[in-house]
Amino acid sequence: MVAGESGLGKSTLVNSLFLTDLYKDRKLLNAEERITQTVEITKHTVDIEEKGVKLKLTIVDTPGFGDAVNNTECWKSVADYIDQQFEQYFRDESGLNRKNIQDNRVHCCLYFISPFGHGLRPLDVEFMKALHEKVNIVPILAKADTLTPSEVKKKKIKIREEIEQYGIKIYQFPDCDSDEDEEFKQQDTELKESIPFAVIGSNTVVEAKGKRVRGRLYPWGIVEVENSAHCDFVKLRNMLVRTHMQDLKDVTRETHYENYRAQCIQSMTRMVVKERNRNKLTRESGTDFPIPVVPGVGDETEKLIREKDEEVRHADHEPDSHHPHDDHEHHESEHNSEHTQHSEPPPGPETHSDHMADEAL
Ligand code: GDP
Repeated sequence: MVAGESGLGKSTLVNSLFLTDLYKDRKLLNAEERITQTVEITKHTVDIEEKGVKLKLTIVDTPGFGDAVNNTECWKSVADYIDQQFEQYFRDESGLNRKNIQDNRVHCCLYFISPFGHGLRPLDVEFMKALHEKVNIVPILAKADTLTPSEVKKKKIKIREEIEQYGIKIYQFPDCDSDEDEEFKQQDTELKESIPFAVIGSNTVVEAKGKRVRGRLYPWGIVEVENSAHCDFVKLRNMLVRTHMQDLKDVTRETHYENYRAQCIQSMTRMVVKERNRNKLTRESGTDFPIPVVPGVGDETEKLIREKDEEVRHADHEPDSHHPHDDHEHHESEHNSEHTQHSEPPPGPETHSDHMADEAL
């Protein structure tokens, strides 16, 4: 994946790295269109051959990044894209056809830093901090031909210090095996000291010292993309497609994807436990939980229930004597309470007419 502000030379570098012309149909937006532009994600596939080994690479570009007036959270769609690839892999891995999974996870993100600022900009810090747990970030110092060699050196030191200071976790190159020969060890040290890789990109071939090379022709001379005295392009290319490709994939699998997977499983487990507890509560709340007995209240309630039962039984045995007695009581209570509300059950037909008569009086 390549990310960073537009115009920093991402497309040119990708074309130079893989000797392609991926962006010939690219439509560049004008300033007005870019004010409200959201970050898009585009994908291109390139086939490259390294020492007889054919590789199929997917290049993910993020046009529009940092282009709007308000760039708050403009890294979000990039983060979402990375997560979506993890999600797809997680689904495939949990499915039946696990042997033939197409791995679209992002194994490396080349993050382009402007050569014109004084070290990192707030957006750079925000982007890298938002993504460093998801992807291997390799910082790139763009358009290195615009800086003198001593400026490049100073900028690299400043950027490395700031990366450390802000707690950004970029891709860590693995330690060199102690059994390796001195030359290899020296190359490894140089590689680590090159971070951020100062690069130059070009889509044109120029003639330098009788040889046709990819480079940039200026009135004062030629900068050659593949000349290691001019920039770190060759180091970056070797690292990406030869020496560190497998390690980038390993770190993605063992660290970034594992983090994603662990989070996924954790939230799935939390959901299952929640669901189980919910069921338990429903079942138990209906039957298993005894209703708490408040001391003293139980006896009183039982006494009342017994009295009521007694009354009902009594009423059942003397159905006829009940009404006159009730009516009488009803009249009395009405006269006494002056039409206050009754707690008695609704009156029968006779009592009702009596009641009406009372009201008419
Ligand atoms: P992107 O928007 O990041 O993809 O940037 P482009 O690749 O489209 O490049 C933007 C402009 O910068 C073009 O005019 C390129 O020719 C120029 N450019 C690209 N790479 C370099 C470089 O390494 N040095 C210099 N000086 N200019 C470059």
